[in-house]
Amino acid sequence: MKKQSLLLASGNPGKLTELRALSADLPLVVTGPESLQEGLPEVDETGTTFLENATLKALSAAETATKKCKDNEVIWALADDSGLMVDYLNGAPGVHSARFSGISGEKRDAANNEMLLEKLKGVPPEKRMASFWCVLALAKPGEILLAVEGSVEGWILDRPRGESGFGYDPLFYHEPSDRTFAELSAKEKAAISHRSRAMTRLQAALESILA
Ligand code: IMP
Repeated sequence: MKKQSLLLASGNPGKLTELRALSADLPLVVTGPESLQEGLPEVDETGTTFLENATLKALSAAETATKKCKDNEVIWALADDSGLMVDYLNGAPGVHSARFSGISGEKRDAANNEMLLEKLKGVPPEKRMASFWCVLALAKPGEILLAVEGSVEGWILDRPRGESGFGYDPLFYHEPSDRTFAELSAKEKAAISHRSRAMTRLQAALESILA
């Protein structure tokens, strides 16, 4: 039987790299946005939760990819909405993690990290608890097939450490690893991250959908 096609619906290069690695074992034919000639459709992330935004992105991508597919195949799409929730900031930046500083383009991650440090200036280490959250939504046109979440806890440092990863990784200290996420290799991060925890759940649930 022909394998189902799955489009990874993310335009964030850091996320996409991780999603590609994490989805390598899925029993699906996995492609990225490069498989769509005009790229992914722009989606207004108007939701107030990770689930709402992941749903918006997955449905939009599944619809576009299926419409553009020449073989009349129904294409599934997997979207990730994720972010950092800082306890001291009452859960901010949360769904606004990507746009926290208002700066876009290449300098976005650095500007977001600076903004976070500014908001936590003078806050003692024991009050800097945070968690990364990831919701993965799997859709076909007009229908969400599955949504799962994953999270991981850590602490926000007062200066960045490490060169790997993306986003807030250099400020996110993971106590059991005794390193920031940016000090972990891609493989080490993939063993513990919010994204990999969500993907493990997705993989388990997918088995019953495909059965
Ligand atoms: P989204 O594209 O709206 O889901 O925004 C996700 C944002 O959350 C990213 O741009 C990062 O700022 C942050 N984020 C999500 N996952 C991670 C991660 O694994 N490491 C670091 N930052 C992350």
